[in-house]
Amino acid sequence: MKPDSTGLVNFIDEEKVWATVNSAANADSSRIMDILDKASELKGLSLEETAVLLQVEDPELNEAVFETARKVKQGIYGNRMVLFAPLYITNECGNRCAYCGFKASNKELQRRTLTAEELQQEVLALENQGHKRLLLVYGEHPKFGADWIAETVRTVYDTVSEKSGEIRRVNINCAPLDTAGFRKLHEVGIGTYQCFQETYHRKTYAELHPGGHKKDILWRLHAMHRAMEAGIDDVGMGTLLGLYDYRFDTIAMLSHAAELESRFGVGPHTLSFPRLEPALNADIAFNPPYPITDGQFKRLVAVLRLSVPYTGLILSTREGRNMRRELLDCGVSQLSAGSRTYPGAYSDPDYDRPDVQQFCIGDNRNLEEVITEIVGHGYVPSWCTACYRAGRTGEDFMNLAKTGFIQKFCHPNALLTFKEYLLDYAHSETRAKGCSFIESELDRISTQLRDSVSDRLNRIEHGERDLYF
Ligand code: SAM
Ligand code: SF4
Repeated sequence: MKPDSTGLVNFIDEEKVWATVNSAANADSSRIMDILDKASELKGLSLEETAVLLQVEDPELNEAVFETARKVKQGIYGNRMVLFAPLYITNECGNRCAYCGFKASNKELQRRTLTAEELQQEVLALENQGHKRLLLVYGEHPKFGADWIAETVRTVYDTVSEKSGEIRRVNINCAPLDTAGFRKLHEVGIGTYQCFQETYHRKTYAELHPGGHKKDILWRLHAMHRAMEAGIDDVGMGTLLGLYDYRFDTIAMLSHAAELESRFGVGPHTLSFPRLEPALNADIAFNPPYPITDGQFKRLVAVLRLSVPYTGLILSTREGRNMRRELLDCGVSQLSAGSRTYPGAYSDPDYDRPDVQQFCIGDNRNLEEVITEIVGHGYVPSWCTACYRAGRTGEDFMNLAKTGFIQKFCHPNALLTFKEYLLDYAHSETRAKGCSFIESELDRISTQLRDSVSDRLNRIEHGERDLYF
């Protein structure tokens, strides 16, 4: 593979990706069962094995894939579910992504960039709902550089009040920066840097990104390299499903993850798999050229759980309520809740706004409704930010995860943050149900740890906050 004029190489070998996908089709049942046995050992899967599972069509074998994913999910992550909300900072954008309502050519979209005061209002509104983890989202406009993005991150962290609380982890989804720019984001303490490749297929990428900086596929493909070189060791990758063949893009995304792992010793912290949603003046978003069915989508999530068992899987509110519920069991470890997709949305009483939003949302429930449902299904909502603040990130986090750390510490930490939520933000009925759920969850904690968890829960009851292991 030859470097381009800037010296960057496209490390995704398209022919090889297609060969992997094609040679894995129609595998026999014994091969599939062998792969599932291997996956049960929580060691992850090769690209070839992943491609086999992605193409399992037999209903019984498909069910075996889901069952194995449920076990792996339960074994590594237990029943804790991390919750967050996206916060849109600007919908101004100089790019022309064919699928996005924010594209520069969409003249009907009302453009807005939050001022520092408006941003504070948005943060307060989210804090008042109980959020502790935010994903800041930005259009890509030449007038907004790394300094400005870093300033918005600072504003979010600084928006603290006794009444509403604080944001403890800011993740961001913005266009790729240069290494110096990423260093600025690292210095202001971002958690995960997230950026989706959209599609790894060069021809499709070129057709769908005809203008603006995003046109340059190699600049985007090397974003995570630059972020990691700048010291950001939690990165989040993804592909936008519906643009190209999902099997190709999944195997390519996992090749990208393998490239990072071989180069930096750690792959992505999280993967996302958004499906195209309708967006204002974006025809392709209404008629995806490569639609992925619900069944294929569900299997994709289960297979990712088996392929990269220690990588977080994020599900957004693009998906509807039923699909979200099913995917909790199959592998998802982080869920956005109560999301709105335009700048100023959380302070806006009239929030159904196709004229300003990026795309339509599939799950419109508020945070408390989502919590009630997931607790009803036996999940502990978590706003834990302990690892990132204790420096357990990147390779350190992955190594700890492999020793059962998530079950041992993430579950107790989830209970502590859930207790805070119930005391500070929940309505009385939710609080009563939640508190008895926490009591029942204590039985699942090892006897050595149970007393210290109970002690911390008591301290929270008596007014202390932000306690963690
Ligand atoms: N502007 C930055 C960029 O493009 O990387 C970051 C923000 S962009 C709003 C975040 C993501 O939204 C994109 O990477 C894309 O995958 C997703 N997106 C865009 N249009 C969408 C649509 N119609 N449906 C679902 N997701 C969409
Ligand atoms: Fe701009 Fe990102 Fe939307 Fe593309 S996906 S138009 S870069 S906001």
